[in-house]
Amino acid sequence: MSCLSRLDPPSSSTDMALLERYVKMILAAPVYDLAICTPLQAAPALSQRLGNQVLLKREDLQPTFSFKIRGAYNRLAQLDSQQQQRGVITASAGNHAQGVALAAQRLGIKATIVMPATTPELKVSGVRSRGAEAILHGESFPFALAHALSLAQDVGSTFVSPFDDPLVIAGQGTVAMEILRQQQGALDAIFVPVGGGGLIAGIAAYVKYLRPQVRIVGVESEHSNCLQQALAAGKRVILPKVGTFADGVAVAEIGEHGFQICRHHVDQVISVSNDQLCAAIKDIYDDTRSITEPSGALAVAGIKQYVAQNGISGQTLVAIDSGANINFDSLRHVAERAALSSISA
Ligand SMILES: *Cc1c(COP(=O)(O)O)cnc(C)c1O
Repeated sequence: MSCLSRLDPPSSSTDMALLERYVKMILAAPVYDLAICTPLQAAPALSQRLGNQVLLKREDLQPTFSFKIRGAYNRLAQLDSQQQQRGVITASAGNHAQGVALAAQRLGIKATIVMPATTPELKVSGVRSRGAEAILHGESFPFALAHALSLAQDVGSTFVSPFDDPLVIAGQGTVAMEILRQQQGALDAIFVPVGGGGLIAGIAAYVKYLRPQVRIVGVESEHSNCLQQALAAGKRVILPKVGTFADGVAVAEIGEHGFQICRHHVDQVISVSNDQLCAAIKDIYDDTRSITEPSGALAVAGIKQYVAQNGISGQTLVAIDSGANINFDSLRHVAERAALSSISA
């Protein structure tokens, strides 16, 4: 499924001012106290198979194994000392939780994290081992979120959104700053996994300000395509039901701040199936010998679909390989589905 998303002419002057504000925040984000500048790595087998140059931005190599520490650290580092003393609270399906836990530990801030009861054990222990308090509550993200918001109000601590916050978006946008420095030559499109839209908003803001001809393509799970649906409706919508196989992007409503950017600056959003994700996990493994989580493989699955549907060749396409937090036990399922989809392909 695919839809074009330029609802309005993109370059009104207020709109450019918004992008400029984000670019400044991105350039000033102190993320390298904690995050690393990750490699932009060639994927030779996949590139050859697809007839396009595919580059992987290896955010799975961050401490905590996803890009989320960028936004979390940028947000926490800019709290004033009184706010730091009162601590932070968040709700997260996992990777943001680990980012907040590690950032809080580094800055000496108390962190409480509410996670849905369905969160993989790996992500729960990732939080506890970094000294944060983990509360398991609710069957999915909205329930955990409601609980976290009410706790924050009760105890006077700061709520840190996983995606709907300008400083979090700016922290994630540092990924784009690195990509544009690392790939100064040909660059046709950047494929970005979308959950609540913080990552793609930060990337789109930076890239569309500096190199607007580079296409920004969002990739969603077809079981949580909240950006695609919001663009089609012209406003944010709440999905009645969200699938959790790609648990890192299992979000029912695109963030308000992110949508403000995405509605003008994301060129296209595509959605993929769980089997396409399993096949993409294998593709990434074949080229890198590393395992990604389902959400982490969204962008590669999106590139494969985009190339097949548009018949393009000879382009340079970047995929954000966004995370690696998968329970070891899930790998059997992933391998089985990947084998099936290679038979049907
Ligand atoms: C959070 C996350 C995403 C999506 O990021 P958003 O800012 O919520 O859109 C993608 N992949 C992984 C691995 C994540 O943890």
